[in-house]
Amino acid sequence: TELKLIPKLPVTTRPAQLAESSSSVEKACMSRSQQQMYRGSAHQFPRSVLLDHALEKYTKMHSQCALLLDDGNDTSVQVKKGCQYVVYLEGYEGLGNRLLSLVSAFAYAMVTHRALVIDARRGHLAQLLCEPFHNSSWLLPPQFADAVWGASTLEDAMRWNFQNVTSVRINLRHKQTEADQTFFCPATQKGVGNITWIWWESNQYYVPRLFMIPDFWSLLSSWFPDPSLVFTQLTRFLCLPQNHIWAQIKRIRAAYLASSMIQVGLQVRRHANADNATLVPLVHELIMNCSLKHHVLPKLVLPVMQQQKEQQLALGNQPVAEMSVGSSSSSSSWTTTRSVAVLVTSLHIQYYEKLRNLYVEHGTEDGTVVSVHMMSHEGVENESYEQAVKALTEIWLLSFSNKLTTTSWSTFGYVAQGLGGLQPIILNFFTIDAQHETRPACFLGQSSDPCLHYPFVKPSKCAKVNMSRQHSKWITTHIRPCQDEVNGLQLC
Ligand code: GDP
Repeated sequence: TELKLIPKLPVTTRPAQLAESSSSVEKACMSRSQQQMYRGSAHQFPRSVLLDHALEKYTKMHSQCALLLDDGNDTSVQVKKGCQYVVYLEGYEGLGNRLLSLVSAFAYAMVTHRALVIDARRGHLAQLLCEPFHNSSWLLPPQFADAVWGASTLEDAMRWNFQNVTSVRINLRHKQTEADQTFFCPATQKGVGNITWIWWESNQYYVPRLFMIPDFWSLLSSWFPDPSLVFTQLTRFLCLPQNHIWAQIKRIRAAYLASSMIQVGLQVRRHANADNATLVPLVHELIMNCSLKHHVLPKLVLPVMQQQKEQQLALGNQPVAEMSVGSSSSSSSWTTTRSVAVLVTSLHIQYYEKLRNLYVEHGTEDGTVVSVHMMSHEGVENESYEQAVKALTEIWLLSFSNKLTTTSWSTFGYVAQGLGGLQPIILNFFTIDAQHETRPACFLGQSSDPCLHYPFVKPSKCAKVNMSRQHSKWITTHIRPCQDEVNGLQLC
């Protein structure tokens, strides 16, 4: 697909000597410091000292390798000696895929000491996310971006034995050439080690593969003593919403969610048959069964019990379940009533409506008050900036939940669970959409880290990897098949 030029590109050069004061840095991206106020102590997950040092060192390197335009010549850029780059090319998939790929590119950039820059000509990430690196921009000067067309493919670079190659374009999407499938082999990594520019095109979460390369594993396992938190800690550093989006996230949270004692996120993603109205009741039923089974939502009063309670009420005998609601004379009161706010996110409004109506029409067995909310229902995916803002807003709101239910195979859900460091209840709609699905309709996630759907791990692809026993043992313990994709890999 042709690259689209966005005319109003942000200024890409920021002289390093204009060091900003810490308060102005904070004001430029309020979500960086404020995000922690919205997560309970169990979900803070502070970074290890070694990771903090690595990020500090990385940021310094990024600033030293800032791409500056030649004075008076806006067609050439200077590359400082010793500097190498990963250029993130934004794909055409949804926001979830883009963020998984971005975080993977960053993890790769960190372990290979390359500065991460993004080609802002397509997609919206540059308009959604804060600049992550203090004192230097991550935006690739547009004057340079056309160089991508001169980059070699990995296949060509390999054919030339990596001689005289300065720029290589890697395709790490769900379909890959034979050559690209060897990218995570130690030998290929050695080959690309001297190449200045790596153009990174992907829609996948490749971090689990990085842990399988011995040199990278040594670094990564020291930075991340708990590998199930890699995505959580990197996203909270790298994928922060800009101030105008952060303000909206806070407004929605304060207006609709924060006053309830418990916040529940429910992400309903219909990949197949999304427009098939006849399936809506089945999807709703599956959502309810799973939510009740896993104690995500409180039990409803069954109609027959409801009748009995109404009779009791007529006799002046208040049912226990209703006592707390509006009964100022009892020990319970409005303020002590247990309350749950459910945020439903979906492209489709039906799931929200059905759930809201259910809790409006029926009471709950334990008297919990349930409010149900939806912020958008876009109907279909499009590539607009406005939709991306809604998606980012909702992903962040879901990540603040106390309990989260996501949809299997959805990268949108992966980002929300990863950002929140939450092990979700996973809804498996394949039991409705696929004929021979044998897995259960819902299950508890084994990790908050996203699943890599297409790892392309075939022993034949890499020449024999010399792996220590310690490393092999680590892999067996911490890298598992995904629950929602048997061929996938997940850090646990
Ligand atoms: P995936 O397709 O489920 O893996 O998730 P992606 O994020 O990659 O792509 C889906 C895109 O559809 C998102 O980026 C949004 O633009 C849109 N979308 C899907 N579900 C939702 C939702 O619950 N809320 C909003 N606001 N957008 C959604």
